[in-house]
Amino acid sequence: MRRKINRQLITIAILATVVTMALITVVFRQLLQQQIIEDLKAYAGLLDKADLYQNTEIYVTDFKAENVRITWIDADGEVLGDTDANQDIMENHAKRPEILEALATGEGVDIRKSETLEDNTYYYARRMEDGTVLRVAKAGQSTWKIIFSALPGIFIALLLMIGLCVLLARIFAKSIIRPLKELASNLDRPEAKITSEYKELEPFMQTIRTQHENILRAAKVRQDFTANVSHELKTPLTAISGYSELMEAGMVQGEEVKHYAKEIRHNSNRLLALINDIIHLSEMDRTEYAVPMQQVNLAELVQNNLESLKMSAEQRNVSLRYVGESAVVYGNAGLLEELLWNLCDNAIRYNKENGMVKVQVEKTKEHVNLLVSDTGIGIPMEHQNRIFERFYRVDKSRSKETGGTGLGLAIVKHIVAQHDAELNLESTPGEGTKITVSFPVYQG
Ligand code: ADP
Repeated sequence: MRRKINRQLITIAILATVVTMALITVVFRQLLQQQIIEDLKAYAGLLDKADLYQNTEIYVTDFKAENVRITWIDADGEVLGDTDANQDIMENHAKRPEILEALATGEGVDIRKSETLEDNTYYYARRMEDGTVLRVAKAGQSTWKIIFSALPGIFIALLLMIGLCVLLARIFAKSIIRPLKELASNLDRPEAKITSEYKELEPFMQTIRTQHENILRAAKVRQDFTANVSHELKTPLTAISGYSELMEAGMVQGEEVKHYAKEIRHNSNRLLALINDIIHLSEMDRTEYAVPMQQVNLAELVQNNLESLKMSAEQRNVSLRYVGESAVVYGNAGLLEELLWNLCDNAIRYNKENGMVKVQVEKTKEHVNLLVSDTGIGIPMEHQNRIFERFYRVDKSRSKETGGTGLGLAIVKHIVAQHDAELNLESTPGEGTKITVSFPVYQG
C-alpha cells in the first residue's frame, strides 16, 4: 500500500512538474515574441513621430548599427528606402503578409523563419498618413532556440523537483500509513483510540475492531468449551473407573455389587448423553452446514411427541397438558422436535412433586408461539441471563442427578437462532418457569 501511494504521489508530482514546465515554455515563448513586436512598434512609432521615415538618408546610416532594418514602401509595394539593401534592386513588397495587413488594417505583423531556420525575423508594418507603409524588422534568435538553450537549466530544475517529490512522497506515504499501522497493532487493545486524523475510517475501523473482538470472544468460548467438555467427561469416567476397580479388587460384596453396577450404568448413561449433546452442538457450530427447511405443522409435531413426553412426565409424578391450534412454521422437524424435548425435559426435571407442565401452540398476527410452562422450582433472576450458556447450571447436583448435561438450553438457543425465532424466559423462583419460542409466521 505504501509503495502504491508512493508511486502515485511521484507520478502526480512528475506529471504536474512536466505540464507546468510545458505551459511556462509556451507562455514564455508567447511573451518573448510579443516583446519583440512591441519593441518594433515603439521603433516605428518613434520614426513616425519624428517624420524620419521619409528621410531615408538619416536612417540608412544611423539605424544600421541597431540591428534594425527599416523599409519604406509606397502603396503599390514599391520600395522607397531600405536600411539594408539598395531599393532599386529590391523586388516589389506588395505581397508580403505584414504589408498586406498594414495596407488593409493600418498595422501588420509577421514572423518569418530565415533560411537557417535557427533565427526568426520579426516584421512590423504600419500605414502612414500619406498612404506609404513603414516596416521595421529585426532578426532575433528563434524563441525555440532560446528555450532550447535554457533546456539544461530546465532539466536540472526538473530533476531537482522530481527528487524533492520523491522525498515528499515518501514522507507523505509514511504519514498516511502510520495511523493505519498503529491501528493494526492496537486492534486487540480496545482502549486505544482511533486516530482523529482519519475520521472517515472510523466506521470501518470500528467494524474491524468489533469483528476482531468477536473472533477473540468466539475463540475464548471455544477454549472454555473444550476445557469444560474435558472436565465434564472426566467426572463420570473417573467414577466408572473407581467403581470397577473396587469390584475388580473383590472389595464389593453381595447387595453392594448391585449398587455399584447401578452407579456405573448411571455414569455411563451420563457420559453417553454428554457425548451426544457435544456432537450435536459441534455439528450445529459448523456454519457451512445448511439445515434443510420446510413447512412444519408445530401443533402436529407436539401431538406426535405427546405420548412419550407424557410417559417421561409420569415417571416423575408430573402431569403434562397440551393446548394448541394448528400452526405452520418454516423449519426443520428434527431440530424442532429436539427443541420441544429439551424444553419439556427441563420443565419435568426441574418440577415439584405432583407438578404440572403445559405445552401450548398459539398463533398471533406476526408469530407462531411455542410455550412450555411449568409449576417447578423456578430460576432466580441472577441466573436467568446465563442458563443458555454451555454447561451453565443453577444447581449442578440437581442437574446431574436428573441426568442433565448442562447443554440442553445451549442447543435450544442454537435451534431458535437457526429458525430466526426469538426466545423469552419468565420465571419466578418457587412458582415456575415459562419459556416462549416465537417463530415468524410462515409466508408461503
Ligand atoms: P441441564 O442439562 O443442566 O438441565 P440445560 O441447559 O437444559 O442444562 O439448563 C441449564 C440450567 O437451567 C439447568 O441446569 C437448570 O438449573 C436451569 N433450568 C432450565 N430449565 C429450567 C426450568 N424449567 N426450571 C428451572 N430451572 C431450569
